[in-house]
Amino acid sequence: MRYLSTRGGEPVSAAEAIVRGISPSGGLYVPESYPKIELNNNVRGGYLATAHRVMQAYLTETNAKDLDQMISHAYRSFDHVDVTPLIKLSDSEHVLELWHGPTMAFKDIALQMLPHLMRDSLQQTGETKQVYILVATSGDTGKAALEGFKDVEGTRVLVFYPYGGVSEAQRLQMVTQEGANVDVCAVRGNFDDAQTGVKQIFASKETAETLAKEGWRLSSANSINFGRLLPQIVYYFTSYETLLAREEIKPGEAINFCVPTGNFGDILAGEYARRMGLPIHKLICASNRNNVLTDFFDNGVYNDNRPFYQSMSCSIDILISSNLERLLFELADRDDATVRSWMGDLKEKGMYALPQDALKKLKQTFAAGWCNEEDTLQTIRRVFDRTGYLMDPHTAVAQCVYERYVRDTQDTTKTVLLSTANPYKFASDVLGAFETPGQDDFENVKRLNMLSGALVPKGISTLLGKPERHNDVCDLEEMTKRVLQPILKP
Ligand SMILES: *Cc1c(COP(=O)(O)O)cnc(C)c1O
Repeated sequence: MRYLSTRGGEPVSAAEAIVRGISPSGGLYVPESYPKIELNNNVRGGYLATAHRVMQAYLTETNAKDLDQMISHAYRSFDHVDVTPLIKLSDSEHVLELWHGPTMAFKDIALQMLPHLMRDSLQQTGETKQVYILVATSGDTGKAALEGFKDVEGTRVLVFYPYGGVSEAQRLQMVTQEGANVDVCAVRGNFDDAQTGVKQIFASKETAETLAKEGWRLSSANSINFGRLLPQIVYYFTSYETLLAREEIKPGEAINFCVPTGNFGDILAGEYARRMGLPIHKLICASNRNNVLTDFFDNGVYNDNRPFYQSMSCSIDILISSNLERLLFELADRDDATVRSWMGDLKEKGMYALPQDALKKLKQTFAAGWCNEEDTLQTIRRVFDRTGYLMDPHTAVAQCVYERYVRDTQDTTKTVLLSTANPYKFASDVLGAFETPGQDDFENVKRLNMLSGALVPKGISTLLGKPERHNDVCDLEEMTKRVLQPILKP
């Protein structure tokens, strides 16, 4: 299988796509075709077996035994035998918990796997340089990348997060990270600023040359890396297989997925699953007040000239949704010149517009909606009162959007709601759905536990009292300097 760049250029192998992260033309790598997968109506093989079938179809040059090992290593760190358990909320609604990995958010699914894929890809491409992984995070990717790459030989990781723009648990998770090759720095700016800064560093020939002289090359663990996207396709298949095995659906029956969406990686994996033959009726894209995607799915105009809001579902506080470019490539019938012109418009004017026929195609598969902070809290409360299930703010955004979608469309198709974080990762906000939270986050964790009875994950309770090791803050203009500093240090 070869990989094409959305903005043109030579096709490359999967290994090259993963090592590079982004193509020299600035485009994202996409597979030349979507392999069809036989659905497994009996789930005895479980998550690992399906993961193998899905990933091997894209990693045609990776040795099958090696891949098996990588997969079983990656998902060993999850605290649930199903890896991503599926919980029935009602006859039509099932919640897919994607947060049973070490950092309690869905990023672990990809970032526990990526270091293995990266190592294998480096081997396949004969790379001799060490790999410097740069990450811009809206809260969860950073910690998951640090956990995934810590002490992985031949790599070093630097995470930039928006100063004051992440939850206290997210911040503590990052600044207390241990490991010899890990580094964290807050940036004075929002997530989009940090992500743009990282993209500029990737685009700089000068920085690349400086690093190359010292024996390093840059790579990305952000969701633009195909190695991030690939492991996420798996749970669309496993959740479908689980519904089949539980006889909730019949073979071939189409279902919906509703996904809280920021950089568009998670929901795009669903679109890839659909193109691989998974029966999907609608992919529902859920946003918070940063509703640039809702408008895009509504009228085909992507316009990021709008205020940026900080919300309690901070991991989806995003106005520049990078992975959307892969969907645009398909909407443009894989014409990279069209993608280049849209992305040019986005860069120059902060907006681009789809032609009507592309918008029509888009609406066949996607629906979209958004909700505000008050809706989010009310949804957490309503779902808990009705079912006893406690949702985090991101999951609640998806739930609220889903309820409105059903109200507006009367669509009774069985739906899987992707739950992307454990509620205790946002304990103070979640507690706010029930009572006025206090100042102390850990008191709020205890209080939420008493109120809800939901189990406190070990990763949260052990955060308290860990020393803060990474307290650096820098300005946007200093990001390049901050990247080079540990390498050039005498
Ligand atoms: C990253 C993240 C999302 C959004 O995923 P994308 O792939 O960026 O769309 C949603 N919820 C949580 C908790 C996340 O960490």
